[in-house]
Amino acid sequence: MNNHEHEDDLQAIRDSVEKLCDGFPGEYWRKLDRERGYPTAFVEALTEAGYLGCLIPEQYGGSGLGIREAATILETVHRSGGNGAACHAQMYIMGALLRHGSETQKQTYLPEIASGRLRLQAFGVTEPTSGTDTSRIRTTAVRDGDTYVVNGQKVWTSRAEHSDLMLLLARTAPREAGKKPHDGMSIFLVDMRDAVGHGLTIKPIRAMLNHNSTEVFFDDLRIPASSLIGEEGKGFRYILDGMNAERILIAHECIGDARWFIAKGSAYAKDRRVFDRPIGQYQGIQFPLAQCYAETEAAALMTTKAAELFDAGAACGTEANMAKLLAADASWHAADVCMQTYGGFAFAEEYDIERKFRETRLYRTAPISANLILSYIAEHVLGLPRSF
Ligand SMILES: Cc1cc2nc3c(=O)[nH]c(=O)nc-3n(C[C@H](O)[C@H](O)[C@H](O)COP(=O)(O)OP(=O)(O)OC[C@H]3O[C@@H](n4cnc5c(N)ncnc54)[C@H](O)[C@@H]3O)c2cc1C
Repeated sequence: MNNHEHEDDLQAIRDSVEKLCDGFPGEYWRKLDRERGYPTAFVEALTEAGYLGCLIPEQYGGSGLGIREAATILETVHRSGGNGAACHAQMYIMGALLRHGSETQKQTYLPEIASGRLRLQAFGVTEPTSGTDTSRIRTTAVRDGDTYVVNGQKVWTSRAEHSDLMLLLARTAPREAGKKPHDGMSIFLVDMRDAVGHGLTIKPIRAMLNHNSTEVFFDDLRIPASSLIGEEGKGFRYILDGMNAERILIAHECIGDARWFIAKGSAYAKDRRVFDRPIGQYQGIQFPLAQCYAETEAAALMTTKAAELFDAGAACGTEANMAKLLAADASWHAADVCMQTYGGFAFAEEYDIERKFRETRLYRTAPISANLILSYIAEHVLGLPRSF
């Protein structure tokens, strides 16, 4: 396929996702935000349209598309004022299963995930005491015959109450036992339907934004040994493999948010009259919007570059990180400028700005904070000494 045809395909995806999103307007998201509800109908609509299974190969019931298509879907959701966070994790979590799972695991789970009969939305990595230093996680999985016994705690495990399966990172060997601090961790596909009430407890966290995040407690939870994905002890490496996809997809969501804020702010600036002229005529209002536009389009070039490299199977760690950093900064700046352009009305729920403002702020912190990306670039690109 040549570039022109590919662009036509991406435009067709944009058009149809936009149409789907028209059925889920601001009121829909506002109500959920107020109630901290889960957008079940929206996620069902995306699943039925085949969008959530877009990265799953056709042989397992998905549509076998690339990350650019997946990113276009999520960007369009955000550009339309919605939020893909309720379901975006499925797109990148399933990559661990696809790349490192056994053929039996793939045939058992991927078609069910592609059809929406099973949800793989929960990713249990972060713990309260280890912070970004994942090598210090304390959750353990100890082999006992045909099972593993899991003990420990995760925090900020988003969507756990709305997922059937969780991809869990746990220690199967102590940190000190390996050659490297990240050795000795393994990943498991935990079926939470059987586990809740039998060693698994999920507690919602009331947060600044509606992200359905939870704390998850493991108390002698027994899971079948067949839940292990790939080889024991290599889990961290498997998770790292999926991080580029996660960063690229989330960077595109940020671009969608930034474009939404700029369009919303510009439309208001043309319409709102103060001192007998549209506020958009004042350069104090125009310039910040123009600056955000330039920043967003520059970040979008990096997000596209990262996605293209990913789809070509080329190394893209640096680009994926830069895309996430620049796009999260661009969307956060655009959010602030949109707030300022709207004046007091920005604070009223009905314009969706304060909701999107809270939502887009997350991506300067999660899934990886800005400092850690800068540290990656400093060390791996500029060759500066490692600081930790
Ligand atoms: C709403 C929400 C949803 C989330 N969803 C999930 C999820 O589904 N699954 C999951 O596993 N996790 C999830 N997370 C967790 C998220 O990935 C972490 O919060 C994030 O990676 C930051 O880790 P931390 O909170 O432990 O911060 P810390 O690691 O404690 O860092 C705190 C601050 O110190 C800085 N810092 C730390 N180390 C360094 C260093 N070496 N150099 C410079 N600065 C440093 C950081 O940049 C940050 O600003 C979610 C978080 C939120 C808020």
